[in-house]
Amino acid sequence: MSFDVDALRSQFPALAQEGLVYLDNAATSQKPQVVLDAMAQFYAQDNANVHRGAHRLSARATRAFEGARHTLAKFINAPASEALIFTRGTTEAMNLLANSLGAMVLGPGDTVLVDEWAHHASIVPWQQAALRAGATLLPIPLGRDGRLDLAAYERLLADQPKVVVLTQISNALGARAPLGSWLPMARAAGAITIIDGAQSVAHDVIDVQALGCDFFAFSGHKMYGPTGIGVLWGRRDLLDAMPPYQFGGEMIHQVSFNQSSFNQLPFKFEAGTPAIAEAIGLAAAAQWLQGQDRQALIAHETALLEYARLRLSELDGITLYSAFEDNAGALAFNVDGEHHQDVGVWLDQAGIAIRCGHHCCQPLMAALAVKGTCRLSVAAYNCRDEIDRFIAALTDYVEFLYDDA
Ligand code: PMP
Repeated sequence: MSFDVDALRSQFPALAQEGLVYLDNAATSQKPQVVLDAMAQFYAQDNANVHRGAHRLSARATRAFEGARHTLAKFINAPASEALIFTRGTTEAMNLLANSLGAMVLGPGDTVLVDEWAHHASIVPWQQAALRAGATLLPIPLGRDGRLDLAAYERLLADQPKVVVLTQISNALGARAPLGSWLPMARAAGAITIIDGAQSVAHDVIDVQALGCDFFAFSGHKMYGPTGIGVLWGRRDLLDAMPPYQFGGEMIHQVSFNQSSFNQLPFKFEAGTPAIAEAIGLAAAAQWLQGQDRQALIAHETALLEYARLRLSELDGITLYSAFEDNAGALAFNVDGEHHQDVGVWLDQAGIAIRCGHHCCQPLMAALAVKGTCRLSVAAYNCRDEIDRFIAALTDYVEFLYDDA
């Protein structure tokens, strides 16, 4: 299988910067030129507000915006584009669900499950929705092996939770949730299932119908698209039944001072002027990804991460966290006895960008009994040479520590 990483890299203007090794892709990825061009083209030629103008520019903007919805529905194999809601990202999608679905299905004594490696974007909205409803948010804990604990999950499902939120790929660890078996289990227990796909959307081919989840959320900026745009796809009957989340223009059918009626899907959940250029940019990113040999791209990323894992495991004084062979995108580690931020600053001096901190996963950090970790995360445009430069800089750091002792 041939995969030309140099040809791919050359499509990303930000990567041409001298000396930069960008290994912080789980936070956000760089953008290919086609995404930048799609957004510039919209502002230069078609800029107008969508859905309400009689003029030709508005018609073109509406076509491009609704075309983007259609492209993204195909990208995740959604059965209908009306059930694809544009949001600002995964965080807003989770807030929408926790507020709207939460108000519809949660009552006193109910439970909501979320995995222990969940991002705060999954935890906090559901925690607050549970508090409002008199319900309880319960974590699905990690087992001793660092994977999610199946026996604990089975016990928690026995109480028939109303909602189960699963993170397909952990942003902090790169570890995968076993959705193939866990989603049917949640469904059999009568739960509504929500997948946080913020990380998986860049590393897996997503098929929401094959997954069999009720809702799937992701952010554009982690899959080579712009910031400020994301997607919530959901089961149509549930979305139809759910109350609106935000109110204002676009989402209404009729308004008087006494009452309002609401628009149909997807507009019911898209109050106000949407992020039009960003939606178009995100569709360009999806088309760009679909235009690649996805399997070759995934194989490249997998091999690269495995290489990083092996090289890291050869170094003395490094603790790796949940670094499994099926990890995708990211690896977490610490230099023993060192603060993660110090490692990040050292690496930055060598031009290497990784992320150090709690990764918006404070409960996970508590479970791992650390304040934070260093995280290396790869995208399709990263190459072996960059991993070697990262390892060389980290080796220098460890040697510097020992010299100093
Ligand atoms: N979930 C996961 C797994 C993430 O990695 C992130 C982003 N770090 C989010 C949710 C939140 O995404 P956003 O900030 O784009 O809304």
